[in-house]
Amino acid sequence: MTESLLAAESGPARWTCPFCVLLCDDLSVRASASGTSLELADGECASARSGLARFPATPSAATPLVDGHPADLAGAIAAAARILAVSRQPLFGGLGTDVAGARAVYRLACETGAICDPAGGAVLMQSVRSLQDRGGFTTTLAEVRTRADLIVCLNELPTGEAAEFFARCGLAEEGLVPQRHVVLLGGKADDPAGLAALARNSGVTTEVVPLHGDLFSTVALLSALLARRSVRAVPLPLSALADRLRAARYAVIVGQTDRLPAQGGLIVEAIHRIVGTLNATTRAGAMWLGGGNGAGTVNEVFTWLSGLPLRTRAGPAGLEHEPLCFDTSRLLADAAVDCLLWISSFDPMCAPPVSPVPLVLLGHPGLASSAAHVGSVFIPVSTPGIGSAGHLFRADGGTVLPLVPVYRDTLPALADVLGRITQGVSALRARASP
Ligand code: SF4
Repeated sequence: MTESLLAAESGPARWTCPFCVLLCDDLSVRASASGTSLELADGECASARSGLARFPATPSAATPLVDGHPADLAGAIAAAARILAVSRQPLFGGLGTDVAGARAVYRLACETGAICDPAGGAVLMQSVRSLQDRGGFTTTLAEVRTRADLIVCLNELPTGEAAEFFARCGLAEEGLVPQRHVVLLGGKADDPAGLAALARNSGVTTEVVPLHGDLFSTVALLSALLARRSVRAVPLPLSALADRLRAARYAVIVGQTDRLPAQGGLIVEAIHRIVGTLNATTRAGAMWLGGGNGAGTVNEVFTWLSGLPLRTRAGPAGLEHEPLCFDTSRLLADAAVDCLLWISSFDPMCAPPVSPVPLVLLGHPGLASSAAHVGSVFIPVSTPGIGSAGHLFRADGGTVLPLVPVYRDTLPALADVLGRITQGVSALRARASP
């Protein structure tokens, strides 16, 4: 196992942050001054700071619960296997885990015929469905960093989890791309301040282009302009943006999928159409910032193992993919599932939805209160990048980064727990079959 970062004698070691899809790998971690939690030793990111503050400075001593009472790990695994073995249609939700955890989820899903839908599945499906329907050109952080001379942000500057996007693109680094122009298409009231901050970097200019109607109609109009279709009464700023996109050597259009409006998949499709048009004469790519908290990683793993993305069921009838029907809240509201296995290894705030079905909850120790009732099992598991090693896919899809643990955990790895539950389910079903 990788050595503990906190125990490193040669000063703070490099750490890869698992708290959003950017996976910044130039940070280091230490125990906070009070000694109660972890904090960044260098680098700055509000999301990383709040993520680290949810972990103790020393490994957790959390114990499993069965029906709300403390249990040992073997007893909790056996109880979870009993719930799943008698379930006729389980639902696996949350899915906050890394590559190894996702592989183990898939094996248990095949064993039980479970439907798998991540937290935020509806948002994830917007980009998955448009990719399935129309394909697309996406780019990588490295390409943006070293080539992009025009960056167009949809509706708002990257915020929240993706707030460090421009830092990852090297906007503050001289000598990468001599001149860059950042365009905000649409925007919120506080975005001009963010643009002004970007413009303080050498060689960076910025601009706001107002929407023409809503974002749907604006990107449709931009697409028509770039395709040189006949369009009447085009607003000047939008026409200038079309010219700028054509003239750019490498344009990148960036959107946060969880900030897109309902039916945002149509916007994703329109952007891919624009990028496709541009690529006939110059170079362009889209960058979708979404799929955090493990959702993007689990989607990648399911796709390579089964050939289908999440919201898929591996049952007796083979693989069934239902991007709309296999929605967690819809399935629970319709009583279409009879047990819920919920996984949230990174985020103690990502709790399972309240429902009457039996619950198996595997995750951050802070989730214990969500499974402190009869008919539930809670098993605290190690967090990749905090208590154990692991791997996550970055926002740009094709890049997998290794996670180095901050300390050697006492909690089990999710993949081990799921492997033992799978064995338990298989043994119980073999015993029950005639
Ligand atoms: S931007 Fe994301 S990956 Fe980078 S430090 Fe912040 S939370 Fe972590």
